[in-house]
Amino acid sequence: TYIVTDNCIACKYTDCVEVCPVDCFYEGENMLVIHPDECIDCGVCEPECPAEAIKPDTESGLDKWLELNTKYASIW
Ligand code: SF4
Repeated sequence: TYIVTDNCIACKYTDCVEVCPVDCFYEGENMLVIHPDECIDCGVCEPECPAEAIKPDTESGLDKWLELNTKYASIW
């Protein structure tokens, strides 16, 4: 899955939402999040993010962000 990280906080861009083929972006408290079970790992959103906030979960040190994405995406 891909994960939205801190650069998204208070970001007003929604380029990622527009390109996601499965609509798996959701509103978090002050940022967008990706639903890890719905993301099909296509990678299309990553280069679209002007804030470079989207990262693949294969990158290290993102546990906290994966948790936060899961938490807020599951509310909906
Ligand atoms: Fe959506 Fe693809 Fe990005 Fe996953 S990697 S959030 S499916 S655009």
